[in-house]
This record gives sequence, C-alpha cells and structure tokens, in this order.
Amino acid sequence: MFWDETIETLGRDSLDKLQLERLQKTVRRVARHVPFYSQKFAAMGLKPGAIRSLADVRRLPFTTNADLRDNYPDGLVAVPPQKRLRLHTSSGTTGKPKALFFSRQDVNQAAELIARCLVMAGTTSADILQNMMTYGLFTGALVMHYGAEKLGMLVIPAGPGNSEKQLLLMQDFRTTALHTTPSYALYFADFLEKKEVDPRKELALRKAFIGAEPYTEETRRKIELALGVEVYNSYGLSEMNGPGVAFECMARQGMHLWEDNFLLEIVDPQTGEPLPEGQTGELVLTSLCREAMPILRYRTRDITSIVPGPCPCGRTHRRIHRITGRSDDMLIVRGANVYPQQIERVLMSLPAVGRNYLICLEGLDEMTVKVELSDASFDGQVDHLVHLQSQIADKLRAEIMVKPKVELVAPGTLPISEGKAKRVVDKRVL
Ligand code: ADP
Ligand code: ZN
Repeated sequence: MFWDETIETLGRDSLDKLQLERLQKTVRRVARHVPFYSQKFAAMGLKPGAIRSLADVRRLPFTTNADLRDNYPDGLVAVPPQKRLRLHTSSGTTGKPKALFFSRQDVNQAAELIARCLVMAGTTSADILQNMMTYGLFTGALVMHYGAEKLGMLVIPAGPGNSEKQLLLMQDFRTTALHTTPSYALYFADFLEKKEVDPRKELALRKAFIGAEPYTEETRRKIELALGVEVYNSYGLSEMNGPGVAFECMARQGMHLWEDNFLLEIVDPQTGEPLPEGQTGELVLTSLCREAMPILRYRTRDITSIVPGPCPCGRTHRRIHRITGRSDDMLIVRGANVYPQQIERVLMSLPAVGRNYLICLEGLDEMTVKVELSDASFDGQVDHLVHLQSQIADKLRAEIMVKPKVELVAPGTLPISEGKAKRVVDKRVL
C-alpha cells in the first residue's frame, strides 16, 4: 500500500542523487533571491557552486528560530508577491511570531506528503477523518486537511475542543480516523469515560494520527486503550510545511522522514557538529522542494536519532525515533537535568494516574508535580492517597534524581489548552 511507490521505495543511490540535485537548486535559488542567505554566503566566502556532494551541506550556514523572527514578516521569502498563495504563522512562546509562506506548488507538495503518510498508516479514501487540530494560522489542521482530501477521504473539519460536538460528529458520520494532539486525545478519552461511551462498541474509530507535541510510548498506549484505536506518531513543523515531515508506517518502529523533500542531519545541540548515524542529537532539516520559503539547515531543537536498518514496509526513506523533547525543554532543577518527558513516562505508566499533569517550579528551586488521579483511584480514602503520593514521588526520584513534591488532584481539574499543552509552569526566582 503506497501512495507513490516509486519515490517511497527509491534506492539509496537514486535518493542521494535526487537530494543533491535538489540541494544544489535550493542553494542557487536562495543565493539569488534571499538577501539573508546571499549575505551569509558572501561573508563566509561560499559560492553556490561549491556544493558538490551531500556532505558539503555542512559548509552551509544554519538557520535558527531567531533568524526567522528577525526576518519577520517576509525577509526569507524567495518568490514575488503574486506567487505567494498562503500564509501560516507559528506561535512560539516568546516575542514575535514566525511567518511562513507557501506557493501553489508548496501547498500541493505538502498535501502530497500527507497523502503518502495516510496511505502508509493504512488509511484509504474510504476512511473518514475527523480533524481535531486548530484551524487557522497554525499549519496543523489545514495541511492535514488538504492532504486527506487529496487522498480522497471525507474530512470533517471539527477543530479542537467541544467534546460533546466531537462525539456527535463521530457517532453521526462514523468517523474512522482522528487527527489530534496527545493532550486532547487524553482529555477526550476522559470525556468518553465520563459519558460511559465504549468507543469499541459505539464508535467506528480505528486509527489516530497524533502529533504536534511530544509524548511517550506510555501515553500512546493509554490513548490506544481508551479510544480503541491504533495511534500513529506524526511529526512536523511549520518551517517545513507543518505535518507530514515524518510519520509512522504500519510497522510503527520510528517515523519515515520524506528524504526526497527534506535533507536530514543529526547534530550535537551544543556544538552544531554532525553526530555519527544512530547517535541522539538535534534534528537539522533543509527543505529541498519548498519554493516560497526554502530554509537551509534549520535547527529544529528537536531531539531524536536515526533508526538503524531497513524497515519491513519496504520504504527506503530513513526513520527517526520519537522526539524525546526539545533541546531547550530541559529544566535544571537543583542541579539535575530534567526533561518533562521523563516525568510523563513515569506518570503514564501508573494506572492510578489519570490523564493530565502539570510541572510547577517555584520559589528558589522547588518542584511540584500536580497529578490528576484516574476515576477509579479517586476514592477519597486518605491512607490510599497518602501511599500513592509517596509512591509517585519515589518513582519520580528514581527517574530524575530529584524528589519533587507530588500533589494529587481530582480527575479533570487541571487546565487543558486547545492548542499545544503547557506542561511546565516556571515561576522560580533564581
Ligand atoms: P511552534 O513552533 O509554535 O510550536 P509548530 O507547529 O511549528 O509550532 O511546532 C512544531 C514543533 O512541534 C516541532 O518542532 C516539535 O517540537 C513539536 N512536534 C510536532 N510533532 C511532534 C511529535 N510527533 N512529537 C514530538 N514533538 C512534536
Ligand atoms: Zn516503514
């Protein structure tokens, strides 16, 4: 089951050759049309013709998040106004947003990659997709929408939130596939439980495409159990079209990254030096097909590694492991390096824990983890709760080396966000 078998199973040599041609073309185009890059090349004494092999990508400058913000609104655009077809922005957390432009070719190409992903994950034009991502400036919903339509699915543009309505849509139109964030999937699972809806009996769901924020294998399992679906990890970022950059096939052992469209490198997040294949580091991506806004060596800050060996599905595009977090997500708590993902992994492996949590950092260096209980464990028995509290604190200490304060709260009481989940509140006065 392929959308474009020739390209998806292209041999390594042909894929390398295609990548090099597209890289050279991209470099020539930005040198001609994007002053930000032509000035950088001039300062480095780099001529576009100097890129003769794929390894030469290392001679190109990185592009960072800050470069995108500094060149807001359209400093990095390589096409004239009449070729700009769509604008998206990426929120980020501080300061100015990033503006991302698409040409008609970019809109089509992004949809093409989504169609590949959806077929790869085992859906067909007979499936019905309920798209629960935020429509609007954010790439998540629209890019998926166009791709699913390209494949020929019925798409329900539900957007996020309003669980009552989501459920009605699922019931009335027999939704078979969902596109959502892990945090909303968990929230919705909770809602179904409260409504006493058994998704396996009453709904037609079979697959869920889940991404836009990091999550663990434990969370995947929790969603699969609660919604009666197979969860496929979906990775993307607005700078590289949005969703559809990397996606799981039915083997679900890492996400195939579409290498005919993106050149991938894994670098040491501190030094920017390339790491040997298989090592964990920061994903750096160069767009090979984007017309309106090509980006060279984008520092995603996402931490991952390449999955070794060929995939049983027959696709040749290399796979990346689940993103374990962003290089700038790391918290330093009482001298220890802590990733929110480590905390999530511990919490989601405990049946007594519900579906939401919040990490709060306060005062000089105090960490409190607020944890929602599952309905079953919320029995009001004080000694049970006290025991559970210390059990969670001990498990967390074993994982992250610092012992946080654990606060247990009733199911459904922590805030949930419509877009990306906010898992950390840092109010320390250090
Ligand atoms: P913003 O930069 O405003 O968060 P984007 O939509 O561009 O907006 O977000 C892209 C980022 O979302 C990625 O760089 C990555 O950190 C995160 N992300 C997207 N998909 C996944 C996924 N499947 N697993 C982990 N993180 C993801
Ligand atoms: Zn595969």
